[in-house]
Amino acid sequence: MIPSPTTGATVELSDVVKDYAGHRALRGVSLSVRPGEFVALLGPSGCGKTTVLRALSGLEQVNGGSILIDGVDVVDVPVNKRDIGMVFQSYSLFPHLTSIENVEFGLRMRKVPSADRRSRAAEALELVGLGDLAGRYAHQLSGGQQQRIALARALVTRPRVLLLDEPLSALDAKVRVQLRDEIRRIQTDLGITTLFVTHDQEEALAVADRVAVMRDGNIEQIGTPEELYTSPTTAFVAAFVGLSNRIPATLSSGCVTVYGETLSVLGSPPVNGPVLAFVRPEDLLLVGNGTEGSIPAVVVATSFLGSLRRTQFRLADDTLVSVQHDVSEHPQPGESVALRLRGNAVSVSAIDA
Ligand code: ADP
Ligand code: MG
Repeated sequence: MIPSPTTGATVELSDVVKDYAGHRALRGVSLSVRPGEFVALLGPSGCGKTTVLRALSGLEQVNGGSILIDGVDVVDVPVNKRDIGMVFQSYSLFPHLTSIENVEFGLRMRKVPSADRRSRAAEALELVGLGDLAGRYAHQLSGGQQQRIALARALVTRPRVLLLDEPLSALDAKVRVQLRDEIRRIQTDLGITTLFVTHDQEEALAVADRVAVMRDGNIEQIGTPEELYTSPTTAFVAAFVGLSNRIPATLSSGCVTVYGETLSVLGSPPVNGPVLAFVRPEDLLLVGNGTEGSIPAVVVATSFLGSLRRTQFRLADDTLVSVQHDVSEHPQPGESVALRLRGNAVSVSAIDA
């Protein structure tokens, strides 16, 4: 076990701007990360997630704003002096070095004496559960094992901040979940401040203390997974985080009417008139036919998901909606049923947004 050097560092980005040859990749990104906190940067491809990590690590010079690590502005500090560990999406192990030699590499660069180097690299391999594969080369390791070695290599120098750029996206689903949980466990044990980039909302919600949703070079909203899911401040966040049904509705005086039911609106509503309401699958209920205020629907298809069932229905105006319900309910394709809104507040967007 590598003891944590101190507690993790604070990281503070203020109004960071980055231009690439005429293209503004970061439009004033501000983000404060607490010591030992695990923050996920979530957003679609091209929104600037990698650029934030590269700016923070010093691989990229910024065009404006400040970057503070433990209160010290590092904008002019070179990469190797920022005390940051990094893991990337693609396997980046040196093919001609064994696992342990790969892990030792950063220590060698720092001129750590050889005996000390070996024992620290061995500890780091133990930490990621690969102590017995020290002599293997990259081509003798699975993708998941290679990423564990990359993680050991990032941690062996005892950095104050850990940056992970889509470290799981090349792995298959099962390994991805295992390694994600393992990364979180190690990070918590070490208390190292961590930024984790992903485009996978489920991954971000599962692993992070807080999630920053990015869009087009900005952070659109930052909050705990629960806050983002239950109180998205924009339609983009509502659509990107979790599943939502998009149901035609009417907005007036700050409330939205969805199939006769009036609901409050999350975030700042667009102009009055026709809108789309984002209704979570668990915010619709299956009720008895003819229940007052219910919405007639026809069952399209149903999937058994173990602890619950998700069924797709067609409404009278041809809108398709998904509903999550108890496995004890067995809607049959073609059957006419009735749905009811639970009444929770929803996000809305203009129809053409
Ligand atoms: P993400 O990691 O969210 O997919 P990036 O941070 O890699 O996004 O990229 C943000 C934007 O900056 C994209 O539009 C991308 O094309 C552009 N970009 C990234 N790196 C470069 C570069 N070296 N030169 C020019 N444009 C770049
Ligand atoms: Mg990227």
